[in-house]
Amino acid sequence: AAFPLLKPINMLERTLIIIKPDAIKRELIGEILLRFENAGLHVLAMKMVQVSKRDAEKFYAEHAGKSFFEKLTTLLSSTPIIPVVLSGENAIAHVRKIMGATNPVDAEEGTIRHDLALDGTQNSVHGSDSPDSAAREIAFFFNTLEIFENREG
Ligand code: UDP
Repeated sequence: AAFPLLKPINMLERTLIIIKPDAIKRELIGEILLRFENAGLHVLAMKMVQVSKRDAEKFYAEHAGKSFFEKLTTLLSSTPIIPVVLSGENAIAHVRKIMGATNPVDAEEGTIRHDLALDGTQNSVHGSDSPDSAAREIAFFFNTLEIFENREG
């Protein structure tokens, strides 16, 4: 009680996930959302949208110029996708643990990518990798009216 700030702080965070086209095509929407909900994450916003190639390039701008940029942005714009805002304690790291490593051959058993992904590009889900990217990515898909603001309050 004397030094309350020294207690470990579990940050209530928001993060953005995307259910990617390979998962949409294989009808894994419910399966993927169930894994996050069962892990205690809360859905604050969700929609189904199809982005243009240009939008996909903007979303993944940090990867511009890399060898996989073309196939990644072609994949992301190939069918509708489902961006979802999730909240929870340490949600950014928690979600990335549930997703698993980028390439399913490197992903731990029980992770979404190990269990469901097709390969290192068609890996079923995206998850923000930092607070800055989460803020940018949430704003990329949602305005404040579309987010269940009071869910965590
Ligand atoms: N990607 C790929 N080949 C690679 C690395 C990444 O096709 O060698 C794709 C893959 O779909 C990945 C996305 O690009 O999810 C973004 O890459 P990042 O390194 O940010 O991985 P993530 O954060 O999604 O695990």
